[in-house]
Amino acid sequence: MNIIVIGPPGAGKGTQAKILEAEYGLKQLSTGDMLRAEIAAGSDLGKKAKALMDAGELVPDDVVIGMIANRIAQPDCAKGVIFDGFPRTVEQAKALDKMLGEKGKPIKVVIEFAVNEEELVNRLRTRIQQTIDAGQQVRGDDNEETLRNRLKVFREQTAPIIPYYKGTGLLKTVDGMLPIDHVTQAIKALLK
Ligand code: ADP
Repeated sequence: MNIIVIGPPGAGKGTQAKILEAEYGLKQLSTGDMLRAEIAAGSDLGKKAKALMDAGELVPDDVVIGMIANRIAQPDCAKGVIFDGFPRTVEQAKALDKMLGEKGKPIKVVIEFAVNEEELVNRLRTRIQQTIDAGQQVRGDDNEETLRNRLKVFREQTAPIIPYYKGTGLLKTVDGMLPIDHVTQAIKALLK
């Protein structure tokens, strides 16, 4: 079973993806986490991605498409994947359809997290404070200015994948402003 979660930064996709991963034996693939791992490893790819990510811009389509293509071929993805943060453009969505179509393992559902943008800015402030309080390093793109750009990039480049998936009949929407366990329940209801 392959699932895609879509929503602006801070919508709670990653939180839900982790819960679903445990519950359904799927593998969560976050292209953001994969790119941060490249940065931490100091790879050429990581070096190129860092400046774009810190500015809240997207990394080129061919880079993330290549990363995902390699990753979904691994044995831990055999039972299915929760795609978190990918696809982020219509181009990426088309590439993913092609890859999964070739494997004969299409997407079961695309879950859109509907959220209020101002609330996302508040959530980010809380997330930054909690990270600092825990003595951990704040992500390079976790600041208010970059978030505003990430939201703009979402509206302009990622939101067009919503009508794209609506056209395929796979799109479902959940209210991302509800408490975490309510969102989980809503998603589980969709997967029944
Ligand atoms: P969030 O969901 O909090 O916005 P992510 O961890 O998913 O953050 O992504 C962080 C950054 O990584 C993005 O702003 C972008 O620069 C880059 N990135 C992640 N996934 C993709 C993707 N599919 N295509 C292009 N860039 C991506």
